Amino acid sequence: MTTVQNDYYIICEDLFKIYKLADLEVVALRGLDLKVRKGELMAIIGASGSGKSTLLNILGGLETPSAGQVTVGGRDLLTMSPQDLVAYRRKDAGFVWQQGGRNLIPYLSAYQNVELPLILLSWTPRKRRERTRELLEAVGLKDRMKYKPVLLSGGEQQRVAIAIGVAHNPPLLLADEPTGELDTQTAAGIFDLFRSLNQTYGITIVVVTHDANVTSKVDRVVTIRDGRSSLEAVRVAHTFERPTDKPRESFEEFVLVDKAGRLQLPKELMDKLNLEERTRVSFAGDHIIIEPEKSTRRESR
Ligand code: ADP
Ligand code: MG
Repeated sequence: MTTVQNDYYIICEDLFKIYKLADLEVVALRGLDLKVRKGELMAIIGASGSGKSTLLNILGGLETPSAGQVTVGGRDLLTMSPQDLVAYRRKDAGFVWQQGGRNLIPYLSAYQNVELPLILLSWTPRKRRERTRELLEAVGLKDRMKYKPVLLSGGEQQRVAIAIGVAHNPPLLLADEPTGELDTQTAAGIFDLFRSLNQTYGITIVVVTHDANVTSKVDRVVTIRDGRSSLEAVRVAHTFERPTDKPRESFEEFVLVDKAGRLQLPKELMDKLNLEERTRVSFAGDHIIIEPEKSTRRESR
């Protein structure tokens, strides 16, 4: 591997996932490319059914891809043996799901819920106690340790879930719509928590979300459309024009092009020009022009 690739914790190239039902094939991922840097906090957005959960499940070793490449932390998830995959799931990835119920065991206290994965990993009682307390404090639940999930609010339950997700100190945390059932303000608090865990522990975090406000909370947002990464928004810091200027930040959005030259044109642009099936593509010095087969521009020349 080259040094450039070593900068990336996750590399997906031309990833496919096909679910075979009785006599039907569902293509959940169709040639998806994605790279995530070590220590990055990034979000994935996209319409329902676009393949977000499938991608997360593959990254977490819960599903195997049908074709393509996926390496996480230098490990090839496609060729990994089933035993190694089990070990990978337990040690190298943490999960947070949308529904609190999938994250927490209802008859255990917040403390016991966070401690459980550490018991399963045979941590010593002392290390477990230290880690559990440290995490519950880090997620802001120092005073709620003894509460069972039913006595906690939705936001607090997700905080416990996040503590469980990172309890065993995985290098990667995967969260699938963790704020899907929370109000805007509580959701913002959860994203702030992701940021603080990302900074404190250097953990790489990939969050799938519907939350439109997410852009200001993460480093980068990738939009998935029809099983492919389609757009990427990256935060850009503005330089100060005057010394009195407040630091400003905004997002710049890019359309992603893969190695084969494939890209997904934004739907709005396609609709505006009635682009379909055949387009004319021409070179214009420092950019490329894409126009409908019957272009008005062309006719007026
Ligand atoms: P998202 O999380 O973006 O809503 P998913 O990854 O859950 O999308 O699903 C992508 C596509 O794959 C959908 O068409 C969905 O119906 C299909 N799909 C997901 N999981 C399965 C499965 N286990 N069996 C069959 N089809 C599936
Ligand atoms: Mg989903």
